[in-house]
Amino acid sequence: MTLVDVALPLPLFRTFTYALAEGQSAVRGQRVLVPVRGRKEIGIVVGEGTAKEGLKLKSVLAVPDAAPLVSESLLALSTWIADYYVVPIGIVLRTILPALLTGAGAPVPHVKERRVVVQSGELPSLQQRDAFFARAPQQRALFELVEQLGGRAPLELLLERMHFSPSVLKGLVARSMVVVEGETVARDPFARRAAQAPTTHVPSAAQEQAIAALAAANKGDVFLLHGVTGSGKTLVYIEFLKTVIARGQGAIVLVPEIALTPQAVDRFRAVFGNSIAVLHSALSDGERYDEWQALQRGDKRIAVGARSAIFAPIANLGAIVVDEEHESSYKQGESPRYHAREVAIVRARAEGAVVVLGSATPGLESWVNAASGKYTLLTLPERAGGAQLPKVEIVDLRTIPRDPQEPAEAFFTRTVLTPRLEAALAARLERGEQSILLLNRRGYASFVQCAGCGDVATCRDCSISLTYHRSPERLVCHYCLHAEEPRATCARCGEKLVKQKGLGTQQVERLLGERYPSARIARMDVDTTSGKWAHTEILDRMGAGEIDILLGTQMIAKGLDFPNVTLVGVVDADIGINLPDFRASERCFQLLAQVAGRAGRGPKGGEVLIQTRAPSHHAVRCAVTHDYHGFVRQELDGRRHPTYPPNVRLVNVVLSGTTEAATEELASGVAAWIGRLLVKQRIGDVIMVGPAPCPVERLKTRWRWHLLLKSANATELTRVCRYFLQRFEVPNRAGLRVTLDRDPVNLM
Ligand code: ADP
Ligand code: ZN
Repeated sequence: MTLVDVALPLPLFRTFTYALAEGQSAVRGQRVLVPVRGRKEIGIVVGEGTAKEGLKLKSVLAVPDAAPLVSESLLALSTWIADYYVVPIGIVLRTILPALLTGAGAPVPHVKERRVVVQSGELPSLQQRDAFFARAPQQRALFELVEQLGGRAPLELLLERMHFSPSVLKGLVARSMVVVEGETVARDPFARRAAQAPTTHVPSAAQEQAIAALAAANKGDVFLLHGVTGSGKTLVYIEFLKTVIARGQGAIVLVPEIALTPQAVDRFRAVFGNSIAVLHSALSDGERYDEWQALQRGDKRIAVGARSAIFAPIANLGAIVVDEEHESSYKQGESPRYHAREVAIVRARAEGAVVVLGSATPGLESWVNAASGKYTLLTLPERAGGAQLPKVEIVDLRTIPRDPQEPAEAFFTRTVLTPRLEAALAARLERGEQSILLLNRRGYASFVQCAGCGDVATCRDCSISLTYHRSPERLVCHYCLHAEEPRATCARCGEKLVKQKGLGTQQVERLLGERYPSARIARMDVDTTSGKWAHTEILDRMGAGEIDILLGTQMIAKGLDFPNVTLVGVVDADIGINLPDFRASERCFQLLAQVAGRAGRGPKGGEVLIQTRAPSHHAVRCAVTHDYHGFVRQELDGRRHPTYPPNVRLVNVVLSGTTEAATEELASGVAAWIGRLLVKQRIGDVIMVGPAPCPVERLKTRWRWHLLLKSANATELTRVCRYFLQRFEVPNRAGLRVTLDRDPVNLM
């Protein structure tokens, strides 16, 4: 009897030993179906098991695959993630595999299958046929149709489309002329998108330099490609990947979200065609599994996808590209809370691949690493094809003059569509050019407030103000998606007047419609893009010139390349700038710089108008002058006292529960526990801050507190977290929970 050590997707920091039956065998990386607490689970063998005295071991129920599913290198990567982010390895393994392969009860993947009719045996000659089919002309017709179709034809086609009767087919089967068998069908999710011809730009000198540096890189090297918006980073990626493919290697290209970057994906597909697997978030489990298999077999060599594509099973990995590397969507919001950019670097080092991190606004962590020489900096300082960066102008909302006679509504409208913005939009409409308007807040009005007592309607489950939506008329919590009917009176004082304040995309859309009745206006935010392909459809219409004004949330700020966009307007730049999160300014600067980068990509040039009440804030000021370096300098300074990343490493320990009192008690208990640990173990280089209520102190019915662990010493931080999670006993009441977020991108 042999024993195996199995990782299971359970929240426990341990593996489980099972016995293999006679004739069964399984090695590291292979899947096994095992009994767990009366259920069946799929686990991954991580090593040989050892017998424990007096312990009766359960047996493996089945070994579904002939070979290991997880390669040695992906196992090693999973182990790193489990250690660094302090997560059980079984949870990590479940994350890196397609859902179809990890669901219990589905050890054999369900693949889309169709029935096909196949000719079998010797084909009768023409003379033989006359005799053979003398009394069965229908059989002959069917047989010869299959023959014409290459000896193989889908059953559905023959019976339903060509209207042969099943009895005719049965006759052929009975005479062993044909057999009916199953055939797996590979699904092609991108088939519906038209193929594009590759562009044939001659690389600029700066692009050439970057391409050459990448092609000559050593295994495991990391490059930061800092290229201004429109500098042609995609061309650099593509030329580099050509050399990787020519060497017989494969690659991974990470993008923040495929639905938002159809243009970039189309460019890769135009060049690499069928060797690309596009891992789209809208893929069904079956489609994802098909692509995963094609990569594992080596039929496809490049995986393009969001965050989780970093786990693509590519054997001979030559390169990993992380486009828009500053994007926070690379960080997973649930366990394991990994950052795909960090995982990319670890994977590349282990497998000898080269990493390219690309952005016009690199995250501060990456910038500091490039400055210290840990990464190699490549720069594209100018726009490609002779285009200029757009002129950016501030519209100071504090200076909009108010006429005392003017009704509040009219004045408000003028702070949204300011005279400056209005004139700029009108000029674009007149010239047949396109505009993009950013307002990073969806909904109609940001909140509903009582004119009497000033009370703001908040979600019953979260401490978040409800957003007013006009169609359908609802108050929606954008955290838990709880929706309710708008109230007519204030819940607290009963005052009738419940006023709308603030501004959302729906309200701007209405104002635009009133002001420019014949303009073609499209709104892009979470509410208009619930369909699988909705984003792509809007962007395709924009590309075809069927939209005059594209209005949206941060979704419209990413990667779009439309040469006819000559105006970008930021309706209110101040949203988010004052959030109690140390990254608020960085996110604001990146958003402004990125959205500004959508303007003036063609020969007509472009301009950007930023409406703000905080024109002297460094995030706004540096976006106006395209001054990335100036922003970084000031922002790094601001993160010294108190110290925040990248000047220090951070872990956010979040304590939550269903009652306020129990949660607060847990928070102080955890703080005391960790405090004692730091003293007892003489750990001087880990600092604890807090506990304090989270900025969003209630979320989806749960109360939330947090504390921060800071250290310059990554290993020590890992040790403290691991020790704490393994030893600390969370009281079994009030739904109390401890979650640990390493390198958090969001402290809300
Ligand atoms: P980025 O990702 O750096 O913002 P893109 O890769 O989208 O920029 O490129 C911007 C535009 O410039 C694209 O339309 C692209 O086809 C074009 N382009 C790229 N390289 C060149 C070049 N060498 N000459 C002319 N145009 C180029
Ligand atoms: Zn809510």
